[in-house]
Amino acid sequence: MESGMQKLVVVSNRLPAALKKDNGQWTVKAGSGGLITAMAPVLKNRGGVWIGWSGAADPAMDVDGLLADFSNEAGYELCTVPLTQDDVDGYYYGFSNEIIWPLFHDLQTRCRFYPEYWRAYLDVNFKFAEVVARKSDQDDYIWIQDYHLMHQAFFLKSMGVKRNIGFFLHIPFPPPDIFMKLPWRRKVLQALIDYDLVGFQTIQDRKNFVGCLQRIMPETRVDGCGSVVTVHTGNRHFRVGAFPISIDYNQFSDLAKQPNVVRKAFELKEALRHRKIILGVDRLDYTKGIPERIRSIQNLLRRYPDLKGRMNFVQIAVPSREEVDEYKDLRTEIEQLVGRVNGEFSMPGWVPVHYHYRSLSHEDLVAYYAAADIGLVTPLRDGMNLVAKEYCACNNSEDGVLVLSEFAGAAAQLQEHAYLVNPYDMDGVAKGLHRAFHWSKEVRSHHMVHLREQVRKNNIFWWVDSFLQAGIAKTLGDFPEIDTVHFEQV
Ligand code: UDP
Repeated sequence: MESGMQKLVVVSNRLPAALKKDNGQWTVKAGSGGLITAMAPVLKNRGGVWIGWSGAADPAMDVDGLLADFSNEAGYELCTVPLTQDDVDGYYYGFSNEIIWPLFHDLQTRCRFYPEYWRAYLDVNFKFAEVVARKSDQDDYIWIQDYHLMHQAFFLKSMGVKRNIGFFLHIPFPPPDIFMKLPWRRKVLQALIDYDLVGFQTIQDRKNFVGCLQRIMPETRVDGCGSVVTVHTGNRHFRVGAFPISIDYNQFSDLAKQPNVVRKAFELKEALRHRKIILGVDRLDYTKGIPERIRSIQNLLRRYPDLKGRMNFVQIAVPSREEVDEYKDLRTEIEQLVGRVNGEFSMPGWVPVHYHYRSLSHEDLVAYYAAADIGLVTPLRDGMNLVAKEYCACNNSEDGVLVLSEFAGAAAQLQEHAYLVNPYDMDGVAKGLHRAFHWSKEVRSHHMVHLREQVRKNNIFWWVDSFLQAGIAKTLGDFPEIDTVHFEQV
């Protein structure tokens, strides 16, 4: 990268590669999840830097050395923030997972507002900010990702480090009545207004944020309309926008057309011949509404016995936060529910619920999407939900139906052509599924064509461009690709 040229510096809790100990040996594994899928194409071969935690709580380890090969292959530099086990316990498991995650998903009864979590969160944010200051230049654009790192602009400013810095929140922002329960509500808002640009998934999230600002800082004014507005509060003037994150549409759609994936999808359909496949794919998390969904399937079969033997519900539950008791309990609850529904309805040759507790290869996932007649995406609350968009992108036959929770961020964009349901309303979900089951091919195709068009146009590159446009009046094309052969570690 030529000196003086602006580069992108992305900062997130986890790096896109994680260190794992296998038989006493540390190995580097590519991470997974929405954010990584989203950011990799943005940094690759553009001289970018990604700063984050590696997953190894041993500050003495030569983590950067272990990641060097991965960096070279990825086409951007990976830079770690060394953390201790206490840091990780307080900031990640504590503040992030037990306070902000449940609170911002409107599940405040799951919060543990322990003051030591707050202190660990601040300590770790300071450590991140030190690395950001060291690894970036004044010309660079710093893009902070998500709720673990809300205090980056605040600490950089307090160190006297001037940077153009944007923040994007991947999870929902709650309405004032819920946000006000946070003991550190004023400090969090004061930290967020230190950014030059604050991005949310939906206009509703942005409105909730502005509503909270107006509660705590009544002088707050908003200028403009549309998806990006300017907010004035005290002596701060900054931009706030809605930027719904998306997927690499072509990558999913093209993979679904590949012969081996087409064959896998065909085999799945053959295995469940004459039955419609209703598919759920989620990390095993209490925000995803998996127990409610299984109960809805139970309700569906009780209310509409004509569907017995004519459908299968396939739930892929990807292991997540397995060491946390709450998640272990959720897994047990789901497995008991699956057993109960199958016990109630199974017949010779037909078991209604197929439950897989594992993560899938990309090809297998796409084959499931392509094979499914109905994508059932019913989180209780979700920032966006990329699974909903991936399902549409893989539906090249334009023959599927998306049944979508009205509380997923994706509903703001897809509501016209998805079948919207309230995930808490088990009668409503059952009714929606029954209707979707009987939709004609013409109706299914009409809606799926529009859904796919929406996801194709507003894809991940559009998301990056719209954020960068609002942040620095640049698009992805302004960060030209460099030749990987000559890519050097900075
Ligand atoms: N996913 C995955 N492995 C799997 C199944 C799904 O990596 O076995 C991915 C999926 O492709 C999607 C992401 O996990 O990109 C889930 O993103 P989403 O926004 O739906 O929910 P999140 O888990 O980020 O809350």
